[in-house]
This record gives sequence, C-alpha cells and structure tokens, in this order.
Amino acid sequence: MIAFGPVPSRRLGRSLGINNIPPKTCTYSCVYCQLGRTKKMRFERRVFYDPEEIQKAVKDKVGKTSEKGGSMDYLTFVADGEPTLDINLGHEIDQLKPLGIKIAVITNASLIWQEDVRENLMKADWVSLKIDATREPIWRRIDRPYGALQLASILDGMLEFAKDYSGELVTETMLVKGLNNSDALLREIAEFLARLRPAMSYLAVPTRPPAEEWAQPPSEEIISRAYHIFHDRIDHVECLIGYEGNAFAFTGDVEKDLLSITAVHPMREEAVGDFLARAGADWSAIESLIERRQLIETRYKGRCFYMRKLRARCIG
Ligand code: SF4
Repeated sequence: MIAFGPVPSRRLGRSLGINNIPPKTCTYSCVYCQLGRTKKMRFERRVFYDPEEIQKAVKDKVGKTSEKGGSMDYLTFVADGEPTLDINLGHEIDQLKPLGIKIAVITNASLIWQEDVRENLMKADWVSLKIDATREPIWRRIDRPYGALQLASILDGMLEFAKDYSGELVTETMLVKGLNNSDALLREIAEFLARLRPAMSYLAVPTRPPAEEWAQPPSEEIISRAYHIFHDRIDHVECLIGYEGNAFAFTGDVEKDLLSITAVHPMREEAVGDFLARAGADWSAIESLIERRQLIETRYKGRCFYMRKLRARCIG
C-alpha cells in the first residue's frame, strides 16, 4: 500500500504514511529491523513507482480522511525500506506540497553523502536521520550496510545537510544491548550530535520482534544513562521505548501522567516530588508503580531518577 493511515505518532501528531519503496528494499540490514533481514540490498538510487501514482494515492487518502472529518499534521515518507533510494523523492515532495500539509522523511541517512539526496531532503519540513554509531566497525555490526558505503562520508553528509537545512532536523539512535551502549560509544555519538545540532535527538530501543533475535534493548539503567550522556551535550533528548508517552499532556491521573513522562525521559527525584505535590498526591504513588514493576529507579552522577519500565518482552 503506497499511502496508509493517518496514524497517531508522538513525534509527528497525526501522520499519513507514504511507502515509496517496494517492501524491504534498503541500503542497510539492521540487526533490529522489524521487517526482518533485507532481501534486496541496494545503494544506487532508481525509479520504483511512478510519482503520479504516489501523488494520486496520497491525494485519495487525504480526500477520504477529510470526508470523514479527519485531519493530519504530516505526510510522512516512512517506507518499508530506505525512502531516499527513490530517485524521484524530491519530485514527489514537490508534487505533494500543494496539498498544504507538512512533509516529513524518516531516513537512515546512508545516502546523504550524495548532493542530490541532500537536495531532495531539503524540500521536506521535518527530517529524521539515523545515527546508531560513529565508529565504523560498530556501525557495520548494527546496521549491516551495503558493502560500498562508508560511515565517514555519511557523517560528513549529515553535517553538510544540517548546515543548510531550514526545516526541523531530528535524529534517532537505536540502542542495542551489548553493541552500542557503552559510555564511550555513547559519548562519541553525543559529541557528533552536538556538532549536528538537531532540534531533538531520540533514543530508541527495539520494541518489536527484531531481524536477529539477539538484538535486544539494554536495561533501563543503561537507557537512562544514555539519556544523560546525550543530555550532557545536547539540549533536547527524548526516549522512544515503545510507549506513546507525552511529557506535556496531563490527564490528571497521577500514575498515568508519571508513566507518560517517564516513558519520554527519566525524571529526577526532586521533579517527581514537585509533581506529586502539585497533583496533591504522595510518594505512595511511586512505591505502588515500582511494586507493580511499571517504574524503575536508576542513578546517574549520584542522583536518583525514575524511568518507565520496558515491556517484559523487550528485556533480553
Ligand atoms: S534502515 Fe530501517 S528499513 Fe532498513 S534495515 Fe534498518 S531498520 Fe530496516
């Protein structure tokens, strides 16, 4: 299906997905990919679908959604593969612009060293780049790229893109237990992100069945540590750990709100205390969440933080 949704997304609000690539056609074969191993590894851009066909599918979906009184915040290129492999991406974005809906692209950034790819991405209002590692051997182990790709040129391409891009640039780093979660590796990624200066850096963990069963999320303790290491270097960091938490939407239900906030970022003990006081609740709410294994206590630089517990299935 070329156009699907709209689906609710924490990052993009209501997002209508655009699949501009045939299933599992990618430059990477990430160990955590929820689509399984990549069958068609490629790195040369080419034509996949007729851009007119994409435009029609999206227009139809937008029309049907508004007929039902629905709306959407973004049209998002989020393919079952790598969307920048599509040589017509820029043209497709141009064709969709008259719909007056913001356009997002979620890319693994593996082709961003090419000028035409950067030019295509410049046209989007919101771009997410994948940065799982800044060391070549680690990157090869996690993302398992097409052999000819070189991490150094990809990282340079990202910096080049960020320099000129005027839309909203975000990054996503997938943490895989035992592969890229050491303090040293995380600090190097954070250093790179500090140079890239994205509007937001997301830290994600595998929450759906991965291509390789052994690709598991690290512990909450390590996720919380990763959050702090990133946050020491960049202002805006959020976790994507499988819950659609929203740190800013309060429902008035103390437990629910605490779980939403701590799914997005670990919360300091003092901040939890303030939150409880404002909500007219006491510490028993925290004790009860810990007892029910929904919340976990972690420590960073001698301070205590609370974080939402991962789903049981995710803990390797
Ligand atoms: S880049 Fe995305 S689609 Fe490609 S293998 Fe990795 S996770 Fe799967």
